[in-house]
Amino acid sequence: MLGAMQDVELRVPLLLDHAAREHGGREIVTRWADGRTTRTDWAGVHRDARRLAQALERLGVRKGERVATLAMNHVGHLVAWYGAIGMGGVIHTINPRLFEDQLAFIANHAEDQVLLYDAMFAPIVERMKPQWTTIRHYVCFDNGEYDELLDAEDGDYRWVTGPEREPCLLCYTSGTTGDPKGVLYTHRSNMIHALAELQPAVFDLDSRAVALPIVPMFHAVGWGLPFASAAAGIKIVFSAVNDPKVLCTLMNDEKVTHTAGVPTVWLAMFQHMDATGEAPKHLKVVTIGGSAAPRAMIERIMKMGVRVNHAWGMTETSPIGTMGAPSPNWDDLSFEQKVDQTVRQGRVPFGVELRIVDDADAVLPRDGEATGRLQIRGPWIVQRYFKGDADCVTADGWFDTGDVAALHPDGTMRITDRSKDVIKSGGEWISSVELENAAIGCAGVGEAAAIGVRHPKWDERPILLVVRKPGSDVTPAEITAHLAKHVAKWWLPDEIVFVDDLPHTATGKLLKTAIREKYRDYQLA
Ligand code: ADP
Repeated sequence: MLGAMQDVELRVPLLLDHAAREHGGREIVTRWADGRTTRTDWAGVHRDARRLAQALERLGVRKGERVATLAMNHVGHLVAWYGAIGMGGVIHTINPRLFEDQLAFIANHAEDQVLLYDAMFAPIVERMKPQWTTIRHYVCFDNGEYDELLDAEDGDYRWVTGPEREPCLLCYTSGTTGDPKGVLYTHRSNMIHALAELQPAVFDLDSRAVALPIVPMFHAVGWGLPFASAAAGIKIVFSAVNDPKVLCTLMNDEKVTHTAGVPTVWLAMFQHMDATGEAPKHLKVVTIGGSAAPRAMIERIMKMGVRVNHAWGMTETSPIGTMGAPSPNWDDLSFEQKVDQTVRQGRVPFGVELRIVDDADAVLPRDGEATGRLQIRGPWIVQRYFKGDADCVTADGWFDTGDVAALHPDGTMRITDRSKDVIKSGGEWISSVELENAAIGCAGVGEAAAIGVRHPKWDERPILLVVRKPGSDVTPAEITAHLAKHVAKWWLPDEIVFVDDLPHTATGKLLKTAIREKYRDYQLA
């Protein structure tokens, strides 16, 4: 027997309809790269999204096809998400920090039909156009093209309907070796994730909140804020630039209560605060994730009277995995104890489950001592990569995150290491394997291992350990010059260290875990 309740498909446009109907006058502010500030509201976003949906249909985009963006955070980008999703399309957020091979791969793999882009990325677009084989229409947000597109439509439009398990958003992660992998989110997964984010234990959002999402919308669904914000009807303040002075001024002028970003953002903000004596005055909840938030950072923000919400997640997890929700005894804890708790990566909100397993896949105890591969499952966790021919979960349905963690008896999770062989610098991925492959193409290099070492600003930076070929006297400068021909500049190792040999596994592969362990506390010069 089935129940007898109304059967509403959980589709993303419902979020925007709600925001426009119940919170239509709540502002959406954008501070543009050229210094202008513009204002609209949820009703305006609703109107423009319907006009964009009409325009995309006119351009020939069909249900399920991909509409890409190459854009910073601003209201046009928000409209693009809801417009493309509303006409049944899939919004594909391209990370402009990727380099050429990856940019070519992902747009072609996604079969993007239309690209909406910021003028500041026009040089990338011009360079990539010959390699992008499926994009039929290019629309610039800033040169009048986008406005023209909208102006031609009347906004009299009904969202495309269908099953909630249809796709609506695509985001690639380059966090692993090989080609980037696409995560294809459904209406349903985003909707449930958005509702979960409203919880006090997660983002703590209600209509009084004013959020400045510093995390770019092209990073892991903008951490879900574009959707959760509509559900709660909050005011959003976008900044198309991430300069700390601009952010601090905006936070104070617009009375921002919530913000979210990677740790690097706060290091820049602290420098600005120290240099000018200015500080954000209205913040209540600061969400930090993407990399481990350092203790000193947590302490300083908490001393401002702000809740630090230390979060862990991934593109594959929509991205919320854990959030720094206070424990039941929070109010009885000393400041030090509160910091101790916040340094860990938070606890699990309703909706997902975590477990840790050992090398034989046996589930380990949640005793705060055992560490193992962190696995996650739930309705907003990836099942299969886009166009993948097999699921990317275990036989019993868990996604292996590539992180290593301990689960504590009080419910907090602590990331201790990474089993995936990658380096995360300032919130962006660097592939160690690609660095190594490029390095061994350099004359004189016998073998090379790239690992991440701690860095005060970027969290991690790559160093390259090199075994020279017998008789070679190749120099770091020569190796760097060679690498520069193959990888982005910000991927270049901070140091190249010559070693006599490197450890290997029984099958002759580099034993990266041992190498990382040995250089864990390596001090960059
Ligand atoms: P995002 O864009 O949200 O950073 P990615 O998919 O690019 O998502 O990166 C996810 C990875 O970043 C995780 O698997 C983990 O290695 C790392 N990470 C995310 N949050 C944290 C955190 N709070 N502490 C330590 N590592 C983290």
